This record gives sequence, C-alpha cells and structure tokens, in this order.
Amino acid sequence: MTYQRILLKLSGEALMGEQQYGIDPERLMQYASEIKAVVATGVQVAVVIGGGNIYRGVESVAFGLDRVQGDYMGMLATVINSMALQSALEKLDVSTRLLSGLTIQRVCEPYIRRRAVRHLEKGRVVIFGAGIGSPYFTTDSAASLRAIEIEADVVLKGTRVDGIYTADPEKDPTATKYENITFDEVIEKNLNVMDMTAFTLCKENNLPIIVFDMNTQGNLGRLMDGETLGTLVHMGGAAGRSTKKPVSEAAATLLPNIVGKLPEQA
Ligand code: UDP
Repeated sequence: MTYQRILLKLSGEALMGEQQYGIDPERLMQYASEIKAVVATGVQVAVVIGGGNIYRGVESVAFGLDRVQGDYMGMLATVINSMALQSALEKLDVSTRLLSGLTIQRVCEPYIRRRAVRHLEKGRVVIFGAGIGSPYFTTDSAASLRAIEIEADVVLKGTRVDGIYTADPEKDPTATKYENITFDEVIEKNLNVMDMTAFTLCKENNLPIIVFDMNTQGNLGRLMDGETLGTLVHMGGAAGRSTKKPVSEAAATLLPNIVGKLPEQA
C-alpha cells in the first residue's frame, strides 16, 4: 500500500448524481462503500465535501444578496453534505468524526488539528465540514489547507471528469487527457484544476493532487493500489526534490510509478 493518509475532496455537484439538485442516495452510498474499502486496508482517510449541489456563495450575488452571507450559506450546505456522508458511513459501520470550520457544537466537533490527526490515527474517517470557516474561500481551498495541516500524502480530487484535459472534452472532441502534469504547466496553460488559492497552497507545500473520476465504481480503490488513473499534478523532477519540504515518503514512492518519466529524464 503506497499511501498512509489521504485527503479526498468530493464536489457537492458529484453528489447530485443524475439529479438537478440535492443528494442522490445511491451516489452517497457508493462513495461511502468506496471509502470503507480503503479504510479497511489501513489507509487513513480525511474527506472534504463541497456544497455546490445545495448552495454556492457566488449565486447570492446574482440574486442581489450579500456575498458573505451567501458564503456562510454555502459553508452550511457543506455541513449538510458532510452529515449525509457521515450517516452513510455509519450505516456501513465505519467510525467517523465530523469536524467543522464553523462552530455548530450540537452537530459536530470544532476543527482542531491535533484532534483531527488523533481521530485519523485511530482509524476514524475524518470529515471536514464548513470549509475553512471563512467567506471568499472554496472547499478546494479547505481541502488543500486541511491536507497540508494533517500532513496528508496527497489530495485526491474526485470529480465527474476522469482527469485534466488540454481543453474541455465536452466542448472540444480533440481534447486529450494528461496522465501527469507539473504545477507550473497547469499555470502556464491556464488549466482549470482548482481555484488559484487552493492550487497555490498545494504547489508551495509540494502536495501532489490527483484529479480522477470518483463516479466510476472502484476507482478510489484502484488509485490506492497504485493504478495510473486520472491526472497527477506534481512539482516535476528537480523542483520536487529541491523544495524545503520533501514529498512525503509515501508520495515519493508512488511518484515514479505514476509519473513515469519525469520531465528532466525525458
Ligand atoms: N465556502 C466558503 N468558504 C469555505 C468553503 C466554502 O465561503 O472555506 C462557500 C462558498 O460560497 C462556496 C460554497 O461554500 O461556493 C460551497 O463550496 P464549493 O463551491 O467549494 O463546493 P463544490 O463546488 O465543491 O460543490
């Protein structure tokens, strides 16, 4: 097993399944059972879920509402999704804790880094709700930040698309998928992986990101088994080794498998 601790980012929209809105119970149970299977192998799993299936802060501006108010509504939406995932996991007898960036003490624990790490060490799935608890951020930023804080080996961004493409594959039939790409190339080519805050956090802390299709059953487990799936975003050969904070041991063993030939060796 290559990873010890992962941060799985699930978008709220992916949770909708084929619906236009809300939570698709089948999709929810699929996510829960995939997470259960990974936890059973001894990998420590932390999860951040978005809220886009219920509410997005920027939408409030379109309605003529206050952006900050909308962002807090968006954060609460992520708590609803987090609670749904928590219940789904518990139904499968997986031990979980929901830690929130906003204090909602009847429902979840407040986010405390040491506590999160302790839960993970005990084999509990830790769900981070309410993003980072501040407006003007996204759950991608929360995923990156929490992953760095808990020293996760990788951010796994589970979406409906199976990786990063040269162009939007739904609009451009000639678009091709990257198997791996460096942080710098993503910026240079202006590819849409995460918002810039989230992306920069990963880049500066040498935290690899894998974008993959979470909706195909079994993909999470395949990734954990070291299969090349989706797109890996990484520092690149020399740059990766020269950063102050080295790629964690687990990620370092995995990188050559997934990356194949790093740019400097090609
Ligand atoms: N949000 C926020 N701060 C955070 C995380 C989320 O203000 O730290 C708000 C923001 O309005 C965002 C919404 O919550 O639009 C839902 O999160 P996001 O859009 O990231 O969800 P996803 O696209 O992954 O479903």
